[in-house]
Amino acid sequence: MTPADLDFDQRHIWHPYTSMTRPLPCYAVESAQGVELQLADGRQLIDGMSSWWAAIHGYNHPALNQAAIAQIGKMSHVMFGGITHPSAIALSRQLVEMTPAGLECVFLADSGSVAVEVALKMAMQYWQARGEKRQTLLTLRNGYHGDTFGAMSVCDPQNSMHSLYQGYLPEHLFAPAPQSRFGGEWDETDIAPFAKMLEENHRGIAAVILEPVVQGAGGMRLYHPTYLKRVRELCDHHGVLLIADEIATGFGRTGKLFACDHAGISPDILCLGKALTGGYMTLSATLTTRHVADTISDGEAGCFMHGPTFMGNPLACAVAHASLGLLAENHWQTQVANIEQQFKRELMPLAAHPAVADVRVLGAIGVVEMHQPVDMAQLQKHFVSQGAWIRPFGKLIYLMPPYIISPAQLTTLTGAIASALETRY
Ligand SMILES: *Cc1c(COP(=O)(O)O)cnc(C)c1O
Repeated sequence: MTPADLDFDQRHIWHPYTSMTRPLPCYAVESAQGVELQLADGRQLIDGMSSWWAAIHGYNHPALNQAAIAQIGKMSHVMFGGITHPSAIALSRQLVEMTPAGLECVFLADSGSVAVEVALKMAMQYWQARGEKRQTLLTLRNGYHGDTFGAMSVCDPQNSMHSLYQGYLPEHLFAPAPQSRFGGEWDETDIAPFAKMLEENHRGIAAVILEPVVQGAGGMRLYHPTYLKRVRELCDHHGVLLIADEIATGFGRTGKLFACDHAGISPDILCLGKALTGGYMTLSATLTTRHVADTISDGEAGCFMHGPTFMGNPLACAVAHASLGLLAENHWQTQVANIEQQFKRELMPLAAHPAVADVRVLGAIGVVEMHQPVDMAQLQKHFVSQGAWIRPFGKLIYLMPPYIISPAQLTTLTGAIASALETRY
């Protein structure tokens, strides 16, 4: 990669949440192997981000490569309207089997945000089919559900720039974020504001949507599973659908296969994405119950009104199938438990630093929350100098490495955070 390439990138290519006039620096990566990113300038970085929760088995994995190569030799894509294929069937079978009980009908789509749109549309069509006008959603503050308009309308109103789109976004109901921490005491009053909002508005509420146990991009908050249990009970009591957005938490990240498993509940609709293909390509799945699927299908429309061009993309399905096959070998449980223990040993002590507000750990997620927002560009430069790829945001420095990371590699990541605290604060 030449300086001219990087200059072209700066002038012409949007990056996530980045200015075109004052872009933050970008690091050129030429290849990736295991848990390491190979920079164009020859440096190697240990990846602390799993490419945003996705690359759980690491990069360039032989089994995933093989699945992609085998599929590409047959067909990369074929339309899903009126056609089916073995990779979609094999993947959907695995998903029905491994997800919480009762989720039987699988909708495959392109990305996490689209999975959320699909879930919201399922909820709307469900009530329409039942002849009830229910169009409001109830969700939690500090939530994150994606960047498309429907998804954005249920993201935290402050974090997610609702003000920019005011008047265009549908207005939904936001209960306060749960306060009882994961691993701490459950405080029964924590659910009261949510219960009250549901009680007062349930006749107009189509669904509750939330991220179970871990609120990700909206603040990396870890809340008590009993909160989720109470939400399920209240939704049942009022006959409101529950949508669990496990796009970030699915596939073992929290120490359970799904975060819902911490509370022993099943949602009516489940959204999956990110780690679904082991981070190889974009694919998402929205699962629902037979009851919801049948109700929608017997309604006025006669079908569910959604069907993306690349629905059930064979290449993505084949790799996802192989990725779930790796999970089924069951090394992830020990790997994630070991990462959790090491985070507790190496990150928890940082809580004593005066610049640190809080440290929290769950499964293969480690979060250091600062008192003040960090200087992302400066901090990232420091991490790169330490051989670590860590991308903080706001007040949060966090790690979610590939499950295959070794203890020594993980120490490089936690050590990079510790040294940043020493040198910069
Ligand atoms: C990342 C994320 C999404 C959006 O997924 P994209 O693939 O980026 O569209 C939705 N919900 C949650 C909880 C996420 O973490």
